[in-house]
Amino acid sequence: MKSILIVIPAYNEEKNIQPVYDALKKVFAPFASLYAFEILFVNDGSEDNTLGEIEKLASSDQTVKYLDFSRNFGKEVATTAGINSCKADACIMVDADMQHPVELIAEFITKWEKGAEVVVGVRNKSKSDVWLKKIGSRMFYSIINKIAEVKVVPNATDFRLIDKVVVEEFNRFTESSRMTRALIDWLGFKRDYVYFDANERLHGTASYSFWKLFGLAMNSFISLSLVPLKLAGYLGIIITTFAGISGFYILLGKYFFHTQFASTFSDSENLAILILFLVGILLTSIGLLALYVANIHKEVIGRPIYVVRKKNIN
Ligand code: UDP
Ligand code: MG
Repeated sequence: MKSILIVIPAYNEEKNIQPVYDALKKVFAPFASLYAFEILFVNDGSEDNTLGEIEKLASSDQTVKYLDFSRNFGKEVATTAGINSCKADACIMVDADMQHPVELIAEFITKWEKGAEVVVGVRNKSKSDVWLKKIGSRMFYSIINKIAEVKVVPNATDFRLIDKVVVEEFNRFTESSRMTRALIDWLGFKRDYVYFDANERLHGTASYSFWKLFGLAMNSFISLSLVPLKLAGYLGIIITTFAGISGFYILLGKYFFHTQFASTFSDSENLAILILFLVGILLTSIGLLALYVANIHKEVIGRPIYVVRKKNIN
């Protein structure tokens, strides 16, 4: 019998734990003789009673496992921890807030059985999204697909199934600032897609603020592409060339050909233009370098990417 692990990252989801558990149990029922299901909740430093709710389920149902983080590490790390603990034949990631329609898990499994090693849930366009989020995500996907080494499918979510071979490879990533779905995309493997309409969040509020999402997007740009780093170089070349030619033109005009145009620039004006350009180049380069240095720094110090306080899975 094949085994399947459902990984659920949960941050302040006390009211959603029981409903998502009930919904999953309903989905498992017809497959009971075919697959051994386990549910792994990763409590990501919730401040409410999420852990209590999980422990309650775990005490009455042996197939409910959990990891309890010592503080909030973010969803990306929570799902990573879940995948790291997976010993099953496949791992399915689901949000705790019921936005991912769990009844589609049957479809994920079918596609997996047909040979897909990664089955990705792709969200149909949602009417309820605020315009800022819509524009933001459109911009993100158009930029990342132009500059990154891997293609990122728009609206591909974390609602996905990965085979154990993918789990094994995924576990080799050591970078700590990560976007789980981007890393899975980076790995490649045979993939298939399941399309779904996202439900409204059942209880509570989404904890991803604009700035958290913005940070995640910036992080993906940096970790998946070298273009931002090169951009500073290109900008530098363009600006230096432009400044060089115009400076040369003005100098020649002033001292050799005595053109009207060149004489309208005073020495200090020329100098000001030059300095502005140079300062511009320096600032962009330094700013971008700083981003990369920060990234290198983070990796080099090799902090553990999460700290588990308690667990009932090996
Ligand atoms: N989540 C988490 N840690 C966090 C934020 C969110 O584990 O720091 C979980 C959350 O409990 C939910 C999933 O990640 O199961 C998606 O979060 P949310 O609904 O806030 O984001 P959105 O639906 O906007 O992607
Ligand atoms: Mg949500």
